[in-house]
Parts: sequence; C-alpha cells; structure tokens
Amino acid sequence: MTQQELAQLVQEISLSFFDQKFSHQVKINYRMTTTGGRYHLNDHHLEINAHFLLPQYHDELIGIIKHELTHYHLHLAGKGYRHCDSDFKTLLNQVGGYRYTPDIGLRRTKKVRYIYLCQYCGQKFRRVRRINLRRYVCGICGGKLVQLAPK
Ligand SMILES: [Zn+2]
Ligand SMILES: [Zn+2]
Repeated sequence: MTQQELAQLVQEISLSFFDQKFSHQVKINYRMTTTGGRYHLNDHHLEINAHFLLPQYHDELIGIIKHELTHYHLHLAGKGYRHCDSDFKTLLNQVGGYRYTPDIGLRRTKKVRYIYLCQYCGQKFRRVRRINLRRYVCGICGGKLVQLAPK
C-alpha cells in the first residue's frame, strides 16, 4: 500500500465512521516496532506502522486507523483525547477501534537471537532457537547453512 492509498483509506474511514474530514498528513513509519500508530498533538499528523500495510493485516490496519482518528478528532474538538478519558473510550467503542495494538508477532521478532545464512542462495533465516546445522539445510534451495549470530 502506498502513502497515497493509505491517505485515501484514512479519509474514507474518517468520513464514514466519524462523519468528519481528515485534513492533515498521514506518514508511514518504517521503524516502529510494536506500536500500530501514533497521533501527533503538535501538528496533528498520523503515523502508521509500515508492518500493518501488508494485505494480510488489512483488518488490523483499519482498527489502528480508527484508534488514531479517535485521538485526532477528539483533540481537535477540544474533548478528552487521552486513553484514560471517557470521551476517548466512548468514541473508540462507537467506531470499533482497537484499544491495543493487535499482536501480529512483532513482539516476538525482538527476541530473535540466531541468524543463519545459506551459503548457496544467500537467504538469511532468523530464529529464536538454535538450529542443529547437521540436521537442517536451507528451506529454499537445500544449501548448507552457517551461523552468523551469535558468533
Ligand atoms: Zn492511542
Ligand atoms: Zn539456500
């Protein structure tokens, strides 16, 4: 999904669920890890975690956009826009936004300790657990793996 398509989607959700236009910027953040998105109070732009732009996470993306738009519209209207405010909880419920970032496995990717490289095709594999190199070969080409990390 491109920046433009994302902006379009945010606009559609804003109009159909909040009955109001979204007239600020949406940015894609490629460095966010476990957060789905963020609303910036200073210039009112939204940031969306790039991981959620993949087609398989479309439903999650919509839930995240609704969450960020809830901050956005309440803040601009001078109402309670924080997570603990009852205005926030009520509106979030009405539009069906997520309270928490859905778990799509982003948390687990932080725990990866072992990195293997296929000597033949160059594919890298990240694993939480150690692989027995005498028993396992590259899943793509069948080549021999070497351990890159930890050394
Ligand atoms: Zn929030
Ligand atoms: Zn390979």
